[in-house]
Amino acid sequence: MCRKGILFVVSGPSGAGKGTVLKHVLQKLPGLMISISYTTRQPRSDEIDGLHYNFCTKDVFQNMVDNGDFLEHIEKFGNCYGTPKAPVSLHLNAGEDVILEIETNGAANIKKMFPNAVLIFVTPHNFDDLEKRLNRRGSEDDKAKEQRLKIAKSEYRSMSHYDYIAINDDLDVCVDTIKAIITAERGKIKRNKVFAQKLLNTTP
Ligand code: ADP
Ligand code: 5GP
Repeated sequence: MCRKGILFVVSGPSGAGKGTVLKHVLQKLPGLMISISYTTRQPRSDEIDGLHYNFCTKDVFQNMVDNGDFLEHIEKFGNCYGTPKAPVSLHLNAGEDVILEIETNGAANIKKMFPNAVLIFVTPHNFDDLEKRLNRRGSEDDKAKEQRLKIAKSEYRSMSHYDYIAINDDLDVCVDTIKAIITAERGKIKRNKVFAQKLLNTTP
């Protein structure tokens, strides 16, 4: 192992396509782990416990908060979401890059704790597409959908704190954009100082 893992944070309004895009990125790039958050939200019909989220009760979630088991956690849309500390530290220390798919407040907290984290904002190029995608996904009732769309504006306000924007109009283009960002970050000299020194030391 020549370097510690890199922490990537992906955010964007509900329906932007974060989950869809990341699924493809993970299939195409080796050495990437996705952090599986805990949530008190009910699973959607296509969601699998332990894969998309660790679904849990409010009591279990609160116990984890009390035990300091989360790197960060928030309440949003009436549900609790939290990033578990242990697996993230384990992977980063093993030199594996980790992706957190979390909302903008959590991302800001992570950036404070991990200044070298790379923040990527995913969005379609206009609001109409967001609305259409949420309608097509059909996972929320009208009230919940409205709540999610309403919050999009405050999420766009946070965009200036991000390192990169990845426009998700064409899925393949967005997947390639995120792959390119990850590849470029992996190649940064500042993240490969140990390797660079080793190369120097072993060169006759
Ligand atoms: P998020 O995780 O950001 O809430 P999802 O990944 O669940 O969003 O995507 C929301 C909906 O939009 C899903 O039905 C998904 O299939 C669709 N979708 C994602 N990316 C695109 C795209 N580039 N073009 C069209 N539809 C998309
Ligand atoms: P959803 O209910 O659509 O799966 O997620 C709602 C929002 O919560 C999304 O913006 C998603 O990125 C965010 N989210 C999911 N897990 C976490 C987490 O562990 N921490 C934070 N801060 N946000 C999360």
